[in-house]
Amino acid sequence: MTDIRTFLKNYDGPKVRLMEVCGTHTASISKNGIVCMLSPNIQLISGPGCPVCVTVTAYIDRLTELCMQPNTIVLTFGDLMRVPGTERNLNDAKAAGGSVRMVYSPLDALRYAEENPQLTCVFAAVGFETTAAVYASLLQEALQKEIKNFRLLTSLKVMPPVLDWVCANQGGIDGFIAPGHVSVITGWKIYEPLAKKYNIPFVVSGFEGGQLLETIYALVKLRGMPRVMNLYPSVVTENGNEEALRAMADCFEPCPAAWRGMGVIPDSGLRLHGEYAMFDAGSDGLLQDHSFNTNCRCAKVLTGAVSPTQCPLFGRVCTPQTPQGACMVSQEGSCYNYYISGRGSK
Ligand code: SF4
Repeated sequence: MTDIRTFLKNYDGPKVRLMEVCGTHTASISKNGIVCMLSPNIQLISGPGCPVCVTVTAYIDRLTELCMQPNTIVLTFGDLMRVPGTERNLNDAKAAGGSVRMVYSPLDALRYAEENPQLTCVFAAVGFETTAAVYASLLQEALQKEIKNFRLLTSLKVMPPVLDWVCANQGGIDGFIAPGHVSVITGWKIYEPLAKKYNIPFVVSGFEGGQLLETIYALVKLRGMPRVMNLYPSVVTENGNEEALRAMADCFEPCPAAWRGMGVIPDSGLRLHGEYAMFDAGSDGLLQDHSFNTNCRCAKVLTGAVSPTQCPLFGRVCTPQTPQGACMVSQEGSCYNYYISGRGSK
C-alpha cells in the first residue's frame, strides 16, 4: 500500500480523469480524504450514481400530488423529502396537509401498508439495480400475501445505458470506478461491452479508503486499455446475483427513463410489468425536469462537466441546510460531499 500511495502522490504521467460513478464512492472519497493523496495529474470527477440526485422534478411533483389525495399516504426515505420539485418539496407538501411518512427501509413501507389496509400506501421507489432487487422481493411478498393497498411510484434506473451516455456525450474520461453495490447484483461482466466500445478501463471497487486507492492505481495503469478488473471479489462475481436478477426480471421490464442533466435515455429505467403492474402508482411519463433555482448546475455536475464548486450558488445560497438542488440534499450527492469535506476547494 505504501508503494501505491507513493505512486499516486508523485504520478507525473499524462493527466488522467477518472469518474467515480457511485454516490457511496463519492462519500467515501470525501470521508477518507482521497483527493489529497493524489497527484494533481489525477483528477476524480463524480458521476450520475446518486439515485436521489438524478431523479427529475416531475417525479417529486407527482409525489406531492399523491400525498394530497384522500386516503393516500406517501412513504419515503428522508432524503427525498427535501429534494426540490417544480414548486415545492415533500416537506412543504406535508406542511400543507399532505400525508407523508418517513420510513427507514422498503420493508417498513410494506409493513405499514399491511397494518393500514384502509389507506393506499405509495412508496417512493428510487434507486439502481441494488435497490430494484430489494423492491422485487418485496413485491413478491406483497403478491403472495395479497396486500392490495401497496403501490410503488418508481424512478428505478440501470447503470449500463447511462454510462454509455456519459462516454458518448461527455468524453475526456480515462476510466471508471465502477459501482460496487450495483456490481454485486449485476456482476462485473456488464462493463465489458462499454470497455471495448470506448477503449476505456472499468475497475469494480470496494468502499474502504485503501480499496479506492488500489482501484485508482489500477485505473491509472490501465489507461487506454479496454479492460474490466474486479477489485471487490469478496462480494462481486462475473455474473452477479442470479436469483436477484431473476426476481427483477419477474417484476420489471426496461423502459425509457429521464435523468437529470441527461434527458431521456432509452432502456435506462425499470417499470413494473405483468402481474406486478397492479402495484404501480402512475410512474409512466414522469419525464420533465425543471430547475427549482435556475442557477443550479446539478445537471452539469451529474455528468462531470463541472465541479460542484463551479456552481455560483455552492456554499453561498446552496448549503446542506438550504439546498437548491438535489445534489446538495443526499449524503451521496456530489455537492453535499464537496461541501462537508472541502473537496475541490484547493
Ligand atoms: S451547489 Fe446546489 S445549486 Fe449548485 S449544483 Fe449543487 S445542488 Fe445545484
